[in-house]
Amino acid sequence: MEHRLERIKKQLHSQSYKLTPQREATVRVLLENEADHLSAEDVYLLVKEKAPEIGLATVYRTLELLSELKVVDKINFGDGVSRYDLRKEGAEHFHHHLVCTECGAVEEIEEDLLGEVEKIVEKDWKFQVKDHRLTFHGICKVCQEITVKTGTSK
Ligand SMILES: [Zn+2]
Ligand SMILES: [Zn+2]
Ligand SMILES: [Zn+2]
Repeated sequence: MEHRLERIKKQLHSQSYKLTPQREATVRVLLENEADHLSAEDVYLLVKEKAPEIGLATVYRTLELLSELKVVDKINFGDGVSRYDLRKEGAEHFHHHLVCTECGAVEEIEEDLLGEVEKIVEKDWKFQVKDHRLTFHGICKVCQEITVKTGTSK
């Protein structure tokens, strides 16, 4: 984790930003909760445990800065809440998500499956693709098993 923090610090420095203690606390929370998809409020509550003096506005500004610098990706799963997701190291594109509409579980797919689709878009629409977001909405493995066992579906 310290290594990644170091690299994020360098990334900030290369864009003339400092890793202030508040920014560092925010980045640490994101690293510690990498598997989750936290909203600004979620991040704020966790950062507050480390840095009680910090305000929501500061956390919010830090998250916006990190997303400008492509350290995090801002994502919305259709519930109207912006979530902040650490970009995987060395990832050229933003990973894909599977969102369960029953239990809300979120799984990640790191493998990129859209190379061909991007080529078609570039060719047919003359659009230079830089990245894409892909979220599948459906029913996760666990929820499918529950449905089978109880024989009911909501
Ligand atoms: Zn994710
Ligand atoms: Zn589920
Ligand atoms: Zn992709």
